Amino acid sequence: MKISIVGAGPAGGFSAYLLAKAGQDVQVFEEHATVGEPVACTGVITGNVMARRLQVPEELVINRIAKARIFSPSGSHIEVRLKNDIIIDRAGFDRHIAAMAKDAGAKLFLNHRFEGLEHNKGRIIAAVKDKTKGATLKIETDYLVGADGPVSTVAKAAGLYGKRAFYTGIQITIPVANDNVIDFHPSEDGIAWLVPENEEIVRVGVAANKEANAYFRKFITSVAGDGYEKKITGWQAGPIPVYDPKLKSATKDGKILLAGDAATMVKAPTLGGINQSLMAAEAAAESINNGTNYEKAWKKLMGRDLYISLMMRKAMERFGNRDYDRLVEIFSSEKNKAVLEEYDRDEPGKFAIRMLLTEPKLLPLAAKAIFL
Ligand SMILES: Cc1cc2nc3c(=O)[nH]c(=O)nc-3n(C[C@H](O)[C@H](O)[C@H](O)COP(=O)(O)OP(=O)(O)OC[C@H]3O[C@@H](n4cnc5c(N)ncnc54)[C@H](O)[C@@H]3O)c2cc1C
Repeated sequence: MKISIVGAGPAGGFSAYLLAKAGQDVQVFEEHATVGEPVACTGVITGNVMARRLQVPEELVINRIAKARIFSPSGSHIEVRLKNDIIIDRAGFDRHIAAMAKDAGAKLFLNHRFEGLEHNKGRIIAAVKDKTKGATLKIETDYLVGADGPVSTVAKAAGLYGKRAFYTGIQITIPVANDNVIDFHPSEDGIAWLVPENEEIVRVGVAANKEANAYFRKFITSVAGDGYEKKITGWQAGPIPVYDPKLKSATKDGKILLAGDAATMVKAPTLGGINQSLMAAEAAAESINNGTNYEKAWKKLMGRDLYISLMMRKAMERFGNRDYDRLVEIFSSEKNKAVLEEYDRDEPGKFAIRMLLTEPKLLPLAAKAIFL
């Protein structure tokens, strides 16, 4: 059985590894010349959730962070303990997974871009351009995994793209003295963050669904002052898909599967998707190896969390700055902070249910997910 995977990010690389390890004939097509580049990611992961599937090698851990501050728009903040948050070298992380896949027997083709699909009497034929030679190859395959990121060409070609919505993420790396605490600034403009690489350098960014550039300039000026442009040592930007529960992530016959950002599997409140990409890869490999239903497999791993996180995001999109002030105030009580500290960000389902049951003050804010 031949399996073709488009994209060598975390979803594609980890699918390739799991499938090749199970003895499948796997080939990965990556459009760039180097796996992992260009980077569009802050690289913050909840280490505990990651460790269930993958051990991040120590040399790829740039920083470990024990605390986060969440600021209200009016400037007050709460400080919460983090369980095991790590900041990774994201390009190195993708290359590490790709190397695991190659060691397990997967073939990796760099500079190969998936361009379209031909269906011929139930067979899948992928058109893949070898960018070095300028030639288009026709690849016949039993399964096609689209792990090609938020604007997935595989999703478009297979009629699985849907009407997806995006946030725009913009981030720079810049010298700023700091106390090794992650700062989150949620507001009606979007979410902004300051993530330390060490006590002198930070990754500063924003994600917004409108006017992201203006929001970014306003936030970075407040952090690094005027003239920050001259101090920038790294710059990146990219679209972040909003999870769409209506979207199908596999064709009717289950032979074309979307995984990770390609299937909008991003947790909506914090817009992180690395752990979700690995979960999608696990579900895709399980479904191909055992001939089981992919949709059911990934929903079992993260369906409820993605749905609840979407509800949280919907409510937050209707918040004004006074609602964010109120939210920070509610979480400043020791009782509520303790609940916030108990759960991993990758598992918002359990957290949201527990909070709504124990803190009635949250109900008017939560209701914004449903009512205007
Ligand atoms: C600014 C920013 C900050 C972020 N920060 C975090 C964070 O801190 N933590 C977190 O968990 N998530 C974060 N995310 C989200 C995270 O980066 C994604 O969820 C994650 O990369 C998804 O992995 P993936 O494998 O699904 O897709 P990708 O990582 O996008 O990989 C897709 C791969 O497919 C390749 N490709 C695309 N099209 C084709 C084609 N036609 N043919 C061949 N190859 C193709 C691409 O080159 C790429 O290598 C951030 C995103 C942004 C934009």
